[in-house]
Amino acid sequence: MKRINAAIGSTLLLAGLAVNADEVPTTREMNLVGWQEFAELVPGQIDTVLLPLGTLEAHGVLPNGSDNLAPTAMAAELAERVNALVAPTLNYGVTGSLDAYAGNFSISAAAYEVFISDILNGLASNEFRNIVILNGHGGPQTEILQRVAEDVGRRQRVRTLVINWWAVADDITHDVFGENGGHAGNNESAYVQAIVPRHVHAERYSPAMASPRGEGWSAYPFPSSIVLYEEGQGYPDFDEKKAAVYFRRVNIRIGDVVEATIKKWDEAGIFR
Ligand SMILES: [Zn+2]
Repeated sequence: MKRINAAIGSTLLLAGLAVNADEVPTTREMNLVGWQEFAELVPGQIDTVLLPLGTLEAHGVLPNGSDNLAPTAMAAELAERVNALVAPTLNYGVTGSLDAYAGNFSISAAAYEVFISDILNGLASNEFRNIVILNGHGGPQTEILQRVAEDVGRRQRVRTLVINWWAVADDITHDVFGENGGHAGNNESAYVQAIVPRHVHAERYSPAMASPRGEGWSAYPFPSSIVLYEEGQGYPDFDEKKAAVYFRRVNIRIGDVVEATIKKWDEAGIFR
């Protein structure tokens, strides 16, 4: 429903109608919004959508779905602050060189490109003006997302933003842990631990599970599912307090980036 003022809202309530301005929108999840409410919300009242996506990928002693869990939780944390709806998470992606580990597989780059392109076009055709992709997985997937988001933005005249959270949060990782991070390293382990502590199996961990990123070599499958950005740094420490601090600070940072970007688009009058 369009925003109605409190006086009218309470009058309608007194008349026994189920209309209440305080309950608008009834949810931020696109999965839970019906078409009637959606039409009332978008565009106008809500112009931004957050699209979380990741893949199934081995992550040391974290869940294989860590790259989905992280952006899904991030979107839930940010939706109200940036006045967005949250699109259903795309849980399958281009996993890459860790896809040989148990429970993992890759979607081919060609199929992913077409599918993600249709998703972005679908969101644009539903009149979202700002499409924010919260990406949980790096490698070749990032390159495809950036290219497709730019292409859809240009053709549909919508603004698109691709966020690789771990890169945006690089200085926070150094600040909280005093060193660099890694794939399934201190940083990502902390973020996931803050979401699903029961599914982080520290008892299965050993530092031997980690390897630094290949310098001058590559291997398929990569020999470790914990990949340190720098040799000797980024091992997970499973510290609950640091995990909570890191989760909070990363979410604030990502919210700052989304807000600042939309503000600049607005001020520049882009795609009004
Ligand atoms: Zn990951």
